Amino acid sequence: MTDFDLHIHGKHSGGVSPEMEIPVIAEEAEKKGLDMVGTGDILNPKWLQHVKEETIEKNGYLKHRDIKFLPTTEVEDEDRIHHLIIFPDLETVEKAYQDFQELSDDIRREGRPRIKANGEKIVEIAKKHDCLIGPCHAFTPYTAVYGKKDSLKECYGDQVENLDFLELGLSADSEMASKISEHKDLVFLSNSDAHSPWPHRLGREFNRAELEEESFEGLKKLFKGKAGELRLNVGLDPREGKYHCSACNSCHQKYSVEEAKDFDWSCQECSGTIKKGVRDRVNELSDKESGYSVDYLHLPPLAKIIQYTVGHASPTTKTVQDRYETLNKEFGAEIDILVEKDIQQLAQVDREVAESIRKFRNDEIVMIPGGGGEYGERIIPEDTEEKKEVIENRKDEINCRYRS
Ligand SMILES: [Zn+2]
Ligand SMILES: [Zn+2]
Ligand SMILES: [Zn+2]
Repeated sequence: MTDFDLHIHGKHSGGVSPEMEIPVIAEEAEKKGLDMVGTGDILNPKWLQHVKEETIEKNGYLKHRDIKFLPTTEVEDEDRIHHLIIFPDLETVEKAYQDFQELSDDIRREGRPRIKANGEKIVEIAKKHDCLIGPCHAFTPYTAVYGKKDSLKECYGDQVENLDFLELGLSADSEMASKISEHKDLVFLSNSDAHSPWPHRLGREFNRAELEEESFEGLKKLFKGKAGELRLNVGLDPREGKYHCSACNSCHQKYSVEEAKDFDWSCQECSGTIKKGVRDRVNELSDKESGYSVDYLHLPPLAKIIQYTVGHASPTTKTVQDRYETLNKEFGAEIDILVEKDIQQLAQVDREVAESIRKFRNDEIVMIPGGGGEYGERIIPEDTEEKKEVIENRKDEINCRYRS
């Protein structure tokens, strides 16, 4: 089995941690239990140079320690829609760079270059170079295909048939995406879009597949349905995403779509603007029942589970980090701890965290959905009594509405 995360950013991109460098990413990916990671930002000349210095190019991947990196980039088109491109090798990156640089003013300095072309043209260039391509975080309201267009066809024109995958993004999962019939031949990817290497970011969403080989070719065959099989998507509960419910951009008050329409998308609490959430957007676009054969496991990263358990405001406090390291040293890769390890065994090292992991696996958690740019919140109740109480007290928020 191969666990992989294909969408991250390097340190030269805006808002990215300076620690986002190949050696650190590789070390953290190992702790996490990832096998393959996208390099991100590979069209950026400085990042390309760094990747060349820090990896050894093999047949179909780049290697640092035990991690296989694939050359990837995100690009932004003229409609501000984001696309993810996976390159077969570094030679191809340099050839494709020639085509993209003619259409971009910022490709030399940005990690995610803006390309003065539409989605159709960008797929055309990617395919000319035998790359793999698909829309990024497809349902994000600002910089993604369904934020701007009503269908893939509207964005990609005749090139829609050449798409290889669809990246779900943090606010959606495969159940939601499968309600749109245009997606039926696409593999759904859950990637992290990490801007820092720490374990609550890198691999916070990842994919598990049986690949014929761990390489570009292996992925290509998977996407084409020729060999290999996607086994699992793992990621946040879509309700945890920042744009799940329709909600006010300023104060984050949630609204049902009917309420929002009644109020003309103006917040009743602060007069801010109500931003339509992914849940309501998917319902608007959906033309079929949901149905998808690959399981989607809703699990936050271990550091977040520890954070919720100890009640800290951030997953990067020393207490959270220490408890993470202890579990990591004792039991190995985080993915195994979250998904496979026996709870009794985990409890011998950290009883409280083991109990939280059990509750997450058994869905005994209450989720307060996100919206209007604010992440959702998970509450770990003591017992079923407390769970009932939380659900009752916060039922409007839980159901994404203003008033019941
Ligand atoms: Zn993006
Ligand atoms: Zn990104
Ligand atoms: Zn408001």
